[in-house]
Amino acid sequence: MRALYFEEHGEPSRLIVGERPRPDPGEGEVLVRVRAASLNHLDLFVLRGLPAIPVELPHVGGADGAGTVAELGEGVTGWRIGDEVVLNPGLWCGKCEFCARGEESQCVRFGIVGEHVNGTFAEYVKVSASSLAPKPAALSWPKAAAFGLTFLTAWRMLMTRARLAAGESVLIHGIGGGVALAALAIAKRVGASVFVTSSSDAKLARARELGADHALNYTSCDVGREVRSVTGKRGVDVVVETVGAATWMSSLRSAAKGGRIVTCGATSGANPTEEVRLIFWNQLSILGSTMGSRTDWQAMVRAVEDWSLRPVVDSVLPLASGRAAYERMAAGVQFGKIVLEMPGGSSGTGQNGS
Ligand SMILES: [Zn+2]
Repeated sequence: MRALYFEEHGEPSRLIVGERPRPDPGEGEVLVRVRAASLNHLDLFVLRGLPAIPVELPHVGGADGAGTVAELGEGVTGWRIGDEVVLNPGLWCGKCEFCARGEESQCVRFGIVGEHVNGTFAEYVKVSASSLAPKPAALSWPKAAAFGLTFLTAWRMLMTRARLAAGESVLIHGIGGGVALAALAIAKRVGASVFVTSSSDAKLARARELGADHALNYTSCDVGREVRSVTGKRGVDVVVETVGAATWMSSLRSAAKGGRIVTCGATSGANPTEEVRLIFWNQLSILGSTMGSRTDWQAMVRAVEDWSLRPVVDSVLPLASGRAAYERMAAGVQFGKIVLEMPGGSSGTGQNGS
């Protein structure tokens, strides 16, 4: 099968488009014919090499994908050949105390497709049958491939962890990233007022078109001070943190009394200064969040259908241009998701969907 893979860690120049063996689905597994897959920052980190997570080389990246069921492993029920599906990128053991509790993203052996095992940047991927969901019918293949990881992450952050309610206010740093855009879409549907930040006026203008109520350029203002000024010194109820060191102090300063700061990442650095006085005096809750449980996944996929949530797609490139896709991600110029289409991926249903 055609695949985008690497034999050595490094920059996107290490990527190869070529033939890899087609995986064989084992017990409880399904082989999916991938129609489209999308990039996440994680893919770049895996390509460059994560010291804590050794991968077997050659390695195929890609956590997100959508396609059709091509082959069923032993014991798989509930799916038929040809079913159109989207993939939950999480991997869990199904046996530990956290899995037993239905908290799969707290699994002691939690992993991610394309990180711990070969991923979706190929014509075929092998996944657990329990990680499939029916593809939302209204979505094109590129959009169906573009919401899994980011919407799951944002869903758990806002709905499960921060318990966002209508009428509340949210601050989302770094609009343009996939999780930030997913959080914007979900928060607006819940009925929250949303502040977004970026260094790019063009990204802020796009975010306003998508419903952001307040757009702050952090290169020309103090975000914490600006949020307090707009809210009559009150601050916001919820802060969505994906950036880490560079934004942490403004997150603490932007949160209202009793505010919740929910963090899922630290792309700018993992060790910010901590102003403990702000945490206790304002009675803030700091909430960690990673990916999502199966319940989160099912609720999120249902919301994509019922609330007409749509991922923002930055660009759609053929698998053969995989290196250019990674380079675009590395440059950080994208607004929304970068999608790869597999050979023959444009055939099938859903292409003219929204
Ligand atoms: Zn487990």
